[in-house]
Amino acid sequence: MKFNFNRIVFFLGQSKRLFFCRTCSKCYKHSSSRSKHERYECQKEPQFQCVFCDYKTKLPFDLRKHERNKHKEDLRIQEAKMLEPKIEY
Ligand SMILES: [Zn+2]
Ligand SMILES: [Zn+2]
Repeated sequence: MKFNFNRIVFFLGQSKRLFFCRTCSKCYKHSSSRSKHERYECQKEPQFQCVFCDYKTKLPFDLRKHERNKHKEDLRIQEAKMLEPKIEY
């Protein structure tokens, strides 16, 4: 696949400023989204595994979102366990 990348950038630049991933040329509206993509997503294997189920993601933010959405109860139990004082006999 060959296309004139510079021309597309120029064309898009007319209306909006966009940020392109330097590796896969995915485009983002915010430079922070692009850095996030380059750091965690681009050509990476999902490395964040949910402790409660098989869900895996490339983004720590997504994992936290997932935990909050899907495992509200589990999180509460886990938190309660963490708050419990450790008593050793
Ligand atoms: Zn990329
Ligand atoms: Zn999960």
